[in-house]
Amino acid sequence: MTKFTLSKDQLQDLIDENKYSVDPDKKFLSRCIDGRYENESGLPALAMPGGDAGELALLFATANTYGFSVKNEDAYKILTEIIGGEKNLGIHTDEHVSIQIQNSKLKIKNYNSKVKNDELVNSVLMGCGHIKQIGLDLEAYKLTNEQLTFIKTVTAQAVKKGAKQTSLRGEHMESAVVIIKGNWGIYPRYTFDTSSGNTLTEIFIYHASLANERRKLFAEKLLKQKAVELFDGLDADYLYQALSDVGENHLMETAKRLASGLSLYEVTFGNQGEQKIEEMGKV
Ligand SMILES: [Zn+2]
Repeated sequence: MTKFTLSKDQLQDLIDENKYSVDPDKKFLSRCIDGRYENESGLPALAMPGGDAGELALLFATANTYGFSVKNEDAYKILTEIIGGEKNLGIHTDEHVSIQIQNSKLKIKNYNSKVKNDELVNSVLMGCGHIKQIGLDLEAYKLTNEQLTFIKTVTAQAVKKGAKQTSLRGEHMESAVVIIKGNWGIYPRYTFDTSSGNTLTEIFIYHASLANERRKLFAEKLLKQKAVELFDGLDADYLYQALSDVGENHLMETAKRLASGLSLYEVTFGNQGEQKIEEMGKV
């Protein structure tokens, strides 16, 4: 299969076919930037690196960068309140990891609950490129191993309690990185008719408007419920700005690693779904 580098015209075709308006009741549910999600109704429009696991990583990295402390458990609780409970966590792995687990089950003689639990903590989120890259280069993402372990542990516990870890299928076929502004989402998969047949492509998506809106609320709640303590005089707007800055770093660190050389586009939607596409160069 040919791997596309998506042109602006091709992106326009993809958007015409794949755009959908944001459901206001579900606007804070998240998914990852990964392009392998199925085009299914109900797919959260809010795409961000690592979904909710990535947002926790972002908070911890911001604390490390700006020198403030976070109460990890409280921060996690606040995030789950914003999304309407742990059951709604936006987290994923992929079928490659799922198959490895299936195979190791067959190999291990004493596949008891302890082994199963350890395996879940070790393997959870491992099909997510963003979380995987964080683990490979904690320094670049300004995270500690303890913080990453915390994220994996709470996620594994949530999965045990019934939260859905989406297992994405297929290979990475992303051909562009698209930053969305406005109140519309985009499904990431698209099949082109070409002279040599049908070709599947996918796009990495970051929904800047929804990510910002949710981050503002997250910052307010973190301070109000004292999960984060800032120096005197610094307020929720400061925390929000800090999260935004580090959020951009996290997005670009992962884009550099997983989407190097692809075109970067900014798509701004109007209320009726009309849109402006701007080319922002290459990743
Ligand atoms: Zn991911």
